[in-house]
Amino acid sequence: MSSYKNYKVAFVTSEVVPFAKTGGLADVAGSLPKYISKSGVDVKVFMPMYSSIDFSKCNLTPINSNDNILIRTAAKLYPVKIYRSTLHNSQVEIYFIQNKHFFHRDKIYTEDADEDERFIFFQKAVIETIQRLKWDPDIVHCNDWQTALIPLLLRDNYSWDKLFSKAATLLTIHNVGYQGIFGKATAEKAEIRDEFYKPSGKVELNGNINFLKAGINFADLITTVSKTYSKEILTAEFGHGLETTLQNRIDDIYGIINGVDYSIWNPEVDKNIPFKYSTNNMNGKKLNKKILLTEFGLQFSDDVPVIGIISRLASQKGFDIIEEVLSKIIKLKMRLIILGSGETHYEKMFADLVKKHPRKAAVYLGYNYELAHLVEAGSDMFLMPSHYEPCGLNQIYSLKYGTVPIVRKTGGLADTVIDWNESVAKGKEDGNGFVFSEYSGAALIKALRRALKIFNRKSEWKKIITNGMKCNYSWQKSAEKYIELYDRAYMKRNK
Ligand code: ADP
Repeated sequence: MSSYKNYKVAFVTSEVVPFAKTGGLADVAGSLPKYISKSGVDVKVFMPMYSSIDFSKCNLTPINSNDNILIRTAAKLYPVKIYRSTLHNSQVEIYFIQNKHFFHRDKIYTEDADEDERFIFFQKAVIETIQRLKWDPDIVHCNDWQTALIPLLLRDNYSWDKLFSKAATLLTIHNVGYQGIFGKATAEKAEIRDEFYKPSGKVELNGNINFLKAGINFADLITTVSKTYSKEILTAEFGHGLETTLQNRIDDIYGIINGVDYSIWNPEVDKNIPFKYSTNNMNGKKLNKKILLTEFGLQFSDDVPVIGIISRLASQKGFDIIEEVLSKIIKLKMRLIILGSGETHYEKMFADLVKKHPRKAAVYLGYNYELAHLVEAGSDMFLMPSHYEPCGLNQIYSLKYGTVPIVRKTGGLADTVIDWNESVAKGKEDGNGFVFSEYSGAALIKALRRALKIFNRKSEWKKIITNGMKCNYSWQKSAEKYIELYDRAYMKRNK
């Protein structure tokens, strides 16, 4: 059997930039398929049609003329309407799965009682859409729990269909902390056989149905979004209860770091920043810093660094250790700019901080895509002290924007940021940021102090910035690794 055939890949995801995004998954889904397709792979993307998507801008072609396809979910039949479009600036087809009952809600993910049904419906609808297209994928690439039942559905519920007889499955875990955990009744809604949800069955965990566990057990191969995270999830500290299930699949787990779309996230071409810049001429960065500070109502000073944070405000991201030492951080010679939304506790923590220290800190509570670009371009440093970080994108963006990342050594942060002081000690001087290991406020502030000290040594600082801006995390390399794994998965299934 020849290696590297021009595979047909169904890429299934609950988020895609620019249509719907809550986190890094959307960035991956909006870029990776384009890069994979450049190598001759025929990739089609499948996602739900949420009401938040601006249909008028999507250039949609309906696939079925009326709601004549019915998907059985929780013993009821629900119609699905399918639309086709293409990913931005590409020929890659994207299929939107529409059902107003399930996807016209005020959020992408809900806490509604039928959250399980929404994604059972989606996954079955994707399979049945592929059937209608009479398209026989070699690979079904699933992402996170919202698509993690598909490997089981294909092997069991739809095993009668020869269309899928050669299809291998690959599950990418973008964050093992989100698993799709539901009560026993969910198994029946999805028509999962008893043997799989009995205690210790392949989809059962602690008396519940666990979608991600099903994916880990039934996918031919599993990936996560960095090498370090692929090892961390095997431990009790980071496995979120799935470490044993993952350990049982240890030979089939791979880590591939996410790439970045440098046609969007690059200060030389970024349409969302007022002044472009590059390693050859950094003047634009200083001008962006001035604008950023003005927008946030803070005073500019060349020798006072701006520390930026762009994040979901969740404990995963290290806000508890920031809180531990916030009163010390605010005393440092710096300005702090936060763009984020999430847990009320942290929103209030930053709002209170700004009230108390309006000349040193400013916050934008909410999601703002354009502003994220300006914060990257206008900050001197970027703080990301995550407790765990499957890949992390903002530290990679920061490197490209000459915004020196200060990170905790975990997951993708450990794989992309090299500590400056450590690199100097080794005589290499290839450091591109500041890294600390212990998850504590004390370790965090120590790293911050190191960064602030070196900020004043202009030539050293310039070297760190240049090292970072030269790093290349383009999708090209990572896409090649995914194609290698498609090959491996296909061979495994069809040996
Ligand atoms: P995660 O997926 O865990 O949230 P990542 O670093 O992988 O973390 O990806 C987060 C993405 O969301 C990045 O592209 C980041 O710029 C963006 N982001 C997070 N919070 C905000 C916000 N408040 N406004 C704009 N963009 C945000």
